[in-house]
Amino acid sequence: MSAEIPGRAVELCIEDGGPHATYQALLEQHVLAFQACSGCLSAIFPPRLRCPRCGADLLTWRASAGRGAVYSSTVIAPRGQEPYAVVLIDLDEGYRMMSRIDDDAVAIGDRVVVAPARAGSETIPLFAVEGARR
Ligand SMILES: [Zn+2]
Repeated sequence: MSAEIPGRAVELCIEDGGPHATYQALLEQHVLAFQACSGCLSAIFPPRLRCPRCGADLLTWRASAGRGAVYSSTVIAPRGQEPYAVVLIDLDEGYRMMSRIDDDAVAIGDRVVVAPARAGSETIPLFAVEGARR
């Protein structure tokens, strides 16, 4: 890991209702956010109050560039509904997140990019394969 805090600083003008509420509020503005620890410089996800590595509570919000590589994928097929792909993504800033992807033929190692999308009443970080093969 580099000795630099990953990602771009985020200007927060959001009421603080806790780490997840802040994450979701930023996502509604199409900012894929994560936290960086000021103590050990780790990238942290999902959002928390304290660093899980060093215990520091000085976490800053950062904007991800929304690019990464597929670590794992699976397709979920709920009865009576359209199947959808779920992936674990290693983001370039150094954290892993679970999300949805708009491609059920995605392969491990594929480069992906986020495109926030509406799902019901909220915005989700939907990913797509970069330079899609279709
Ligand atoms: Zn830390």
